[in-house]
Amino acid sequence: MRHRPDIYIDVAGQHDHNLEFGQIKRFSWRELQTATNNFSEQNVLGKGGFGKVYKGVLPGPDSKKVAIKRLFEVGSPEGEMAFLREVELISIAVHKNILRLIGFCTTPTERLLIYPFMENLSVTSRLRDIGLNEPILDWTTRMMIALGAARGLEYLHEHCNPKIIHRDVKAANVLLDGNFEAVIGDFGLAKMMDMGRNTVTTGVRGTMGHIAPEYFKTGRPSVKTDIFGYGVMLLEIVTGERAIFPDFLEGAGEVMLIDQVR
Ligand code: ATP
Repeated sequence: MRHRPDIYIDVAGQHDHNLEFGQIKRFSWRELQTATNNFSEQNVLGKGGFGKVYKGVLPGPDSKKVAIKRLFEVGSPEGEMAFLREVELISIAVHKNILRLIGFCTTPTERLLIYPFMENLSVTSRLRDIGLNEPILDWTTRMMIALGAARGLEYLHEHCNPKIIHRDVKAANVLLDGNFEAVIGDFGLAKMMDMGRNTVTTGVRGTMGHIAPEYFKTGRPSVKTDIFGYGVMLLEIVTGERAIFPDFLEGAGEVMLIDQVR
C-alpha cells in the first residue's frame, strides 16, 4: 500500500483516527449543489447501475470540472462507516490508468463520490455515439486505449494490497481523458454496494455480455473475471459493436458479441 499523509476526517462530529484519507476531500452537500446547479437534469452525464452521474464545476480560481456520482443505494445510517472504509480503500489506488477519487460526501440520505471529469467521456461513447464533427477512434488510439486499460487492471490485480477485482470491466467503464488516455472507472463500487446489503454470499455484479461464465455460476469473482471482461472489451474496441445486441436475423432475443465472434 502506498503511504499517504494522515488527514483525519470528521465522522458524525468525532474524529475517527482509524481512517486516513490523504488527498481525498469531504465535500458538503451544499458545495455539490452549487457545483451541479442543484443537481440539474441538464448536468446529467448518464446513469449507471450504481447511480446517476452529474457534471459539475467546483468553485475556485481553476473552476475544476468534476463528475459526481450520486449513489442510488444509501443503506442504513450505520452503514456510513462501511462506506467510508471503502472510500478509504478506493483512495489508496493511485495510477494513471485508474480513475482517481477526488472526494466524497455523505448525508443521512445521500452518498456521493467525486471524480475528475474525463473530457472524452467513455470508450463506448467514442465508439458509437460520435457526433458528425467528431473524429472516429483511429487504430493507434484504440491500441493505446487497450494497453492503458490493461496497465490499469494489472495495477489493481498485482500492485494493490488487498488486490482489487473490478467485476465490471467493459468499454462503458473505461473513460478517456483529454489525451485519450484510458482511465478505468467504477472500481471498488461493486464491493461497496455488496457491503451495504449485509449478505454473506454476494450477488453477481456485472453487465450481461461481459460476465465470465464461471463467475455467473458460482458468484465468486476472481482476477480471471476481470480478464474475461477485458477480452470482451477488446472485441468491443475492435468491432465497435455492443457486447450484447438484438438478434436482427431471428427478430427476437439477443445475441452476444462473444458468440458471434466464435
Ligand atoms: P454501470 O454503472 O452500470 O457500469 P455505466 O458505466 O454506463 O454503467 P456510470 O459509470 O454510472 O455508468 O456512468 C454514467 C455515465 O457517466 C457514462 O456515460 C459515463 O461515460 C459518464 N461518466 C462517468 N464518470 C465520468 C467521468 N469521470 N467523466 C466523464 N464522464 C463520466
